[in-house]
Amino acid sequence: MTSIIEVNKLKKSFGDLEVLTNVSFTVHPGEVVAVIGPSGSGKSTMLRSLVHLEEVTGGSIHIQSEALVEDGKYSSGAKIKSITSRMGMVFQHFNLFPHLNVQDNLELAPKFVKKESSGELRRRSTELLAKVGLEDKAKVYPAKLSGGQKQRVAIARALMMNPDILLFDEPTSALDPELTGEVLRVIKQLAEEHMTMIIVTHEMNFARDVADRVIFMDKGEIAEEGTPEQIFGNPQLTRTKSFLNKVESN
Ligand code: ADP
Ligand code: MG
Repeated sequence: MTSIIEVNKLKKSFGDLEVLTNVSFTVHPGEVVAVIGPSGSGKSTMLRSLVHLEEVTGGSIHIQSEALVEDGKYSSGAKIKSITSRMGMVFQHFNLFPHLNVQDNLELAPKFVKKESSGELRRRSTELLAKVGLEDKAKVYPAKLSGGQKQRVAIARALMMNPDILLFDEPTSALDPELTGEVLRVIKQLAEEHMTMIIVTHEMNFARDVADRVIFMDKGEIAEEGTPEQIFGNPQLTRTKSFLNKVESN
């Protein structure tokens, strides 16, 4: 099977601090990968590197067999743009534009990037708001929404660009516990539709439920990876066990 994401020997330093030491993994089309690990282990940096929000200091990233960066050398600006435009990212803190209503938040980026008529954009934004259960919130401003609703808007906004891959960086960490379910349900539905996704999460039950594969990161490297059954049911390393014991006793 050909991979949709291929990461090889990725390295990233901030000054003297090496935060990714030698990260390699592949993701296949339609696969859902959960990334877990302690705070500071490099999960966000790894994810941000995939969409060129961070520049790595070494290694390779191929998306759909095209090089974003190869042996630490980046492709041209146009190529980077073309590659990263196939990925959508959802952040912990939603990053909605406060001065735009929900529908305009959805339509802003595709209006600039894609040559679509306003009628077509409106049709798709309406459809995607319905998909995340917010069809009645089109004209509402973000400040009037709950955290769970904001995050569902952020997911719909990412989907407006028709991404081949969705990346989530702790999508429920900023939410009150009673609001995480509505967001996780939307992500689970996307998984059932075979969207390729990498989800950095602290929700171990969710990871166990939706992920095809779990990657445990620690100290800038992938310490262990496997199926949810392997990682949660029979972790091999002491550090994996100790991390899981800590999060499960929370
Ligand atoms: P995680 O998402 O697993 O919590 P991060 O990728 O955010 O980890 O961070 C990994 C390490 O890199 C941490 O030690 C963090 O302090 C450091 N780091 C992240 N971003 C920067 C930055 N822009 N400048 C300097 N250090 C950073
Ligand atoms: Mg993080």
